[in-house]
Amino acid sequence: MWIMSEPTELYDEEDAFESAGLRLSVDLSALADNWRDMARRSGRARASAVVKADAYGMGIEDAGEALYLAGARDFFVATADEGATLRLFAPDARIFVLAGIWPGLERRFFDNDLVPVVSSEEQLAFWMGTLSNYGDYPCALHVDTGFNRLGLDTADALLLASDVSRPASFSPVLVMSHLACGDDPSSAMNRQQLESFQEVSAAFEGIESSLAASAGIFLGPEYHFDLTRPGIAVYGAEAVKGMPNLMRPVATAEARVVQVRTVRAGGTVSYGGTLCLDRDSRLAIVSAGYADGYLRSLSGAGVPLRQAVTEGACGFIAGHKVPVAGRITMDLTIFDVTDVPEGLVRAGDYVELFGNNILVDDAARAAGTIGYEMLTSVGLRHERRYVETEE
Ligand SMILES: *Cc1c(COP(=O)(O)O)cnc(C)c1O
Repeated sequence: MWIMSEPTELYDEEDAFESAGLRLSVDLSALADNWRDMARRSGRARASAVVKADAYGMGIEDAGEALYLAGARDFFVATADEGATLRLFAPDARIFVLAGIWPGLERRFFDNDLVPVVSSEEQLAFWMGTLSNYGDYPCALHVDTGFNRLGLDTADALLLASDVSRPASFSPVLVMSHLACGDDPSSAMNRQQLESFQEVSAAFEGIESSLAASAGIFLGPEYHFDLTRPGIAVYGAEAVKGMPNLMRPVATAEARVVQVRTVRAGGTVSYGGTLCLDRDSRLAIVSAGYADGYLRSLSGAGVPLRQAVTEGACGFIAGHKVPVAGRITMDLTIFDVTDVPEGLVRAGDYVELFGNNILVDDAARAAGTIGYEMLTSVGLRHERRYVETEE
């Protein structure tokens, strides 16, 4: 059942959605359910919500507010700008900024009550200097335990923990680290990182610790510490390789059929003529292409870079899975709808690109990528609608 969320816009939002070339429905009930599910799986730890990249492409305002209403009081964003936007929808939440702080951004942090995640010696030095002018203000410390992306080296973090000369105004409220292989429970790296982080966490006694993102939550209670950081699972996509996805799908992307054309056997389709039809066919041309984030590597054929899988993606229309035919182009994609009974696919109908029938991770696999990239790519030109569907 579709229940429309309350219209909040003054102009007629429905019309734009009904005729959009590409449209995205975001199910805020599913989002909230998924977050509560991950919060339960976090056991005794508190669950935060990771809403970076515009809430994985779903809109940080509405998604952030829905997560706040579901009970999230700790959020992680990538940038201070995202944090400032989220602040309007999560008034008393603690908002951590993963990119940390840079000279010139101080006011943005202070004005919006954002907590910088300090993740390098340079940032730490800058932050200490800032505090000497400003006074007491919280921060988080990111410690690298093997990912080799962001974070203070473990040894430096341990020194900092025992450094009695550090200014009293320096008051970290969280130490955190990030797992490199959390999505692979058999990886030895998980335990190595866990053990390093346990040492760091113990050194910063009395300060909360956080290690697990979505995948880490599934690794078990040892990985939970005080605060977990689920992202992708909340948005309904796979967190752990090879594990059945237990989450409710949140986003549905659909593209409008611009025309249906009949092509005789022997005709070729799209750039390069890489698909030669071996039967008389009906093709649905839909208004979404790689410029809309429908990645070219999802193409049905002729994309030499994609090696892991040979098939392209499928769409879903009128109860049928329909394959992408030939190469995806900038603004348009062609689906082979020959196997859908004639008359069921007409101009103006919508093909699901991912959602309840085509799981976002299956679409992503067809492109040789991951659900994260599918979700955050479909960002540029779509109309978005928020719905609430009870299970
Ligand atoms: C993105 C991110 C998360 C969330 O990860 P998911 O795999 O989406 O759950 C957590 N922590 C950090 C540091 C991140 O960058």
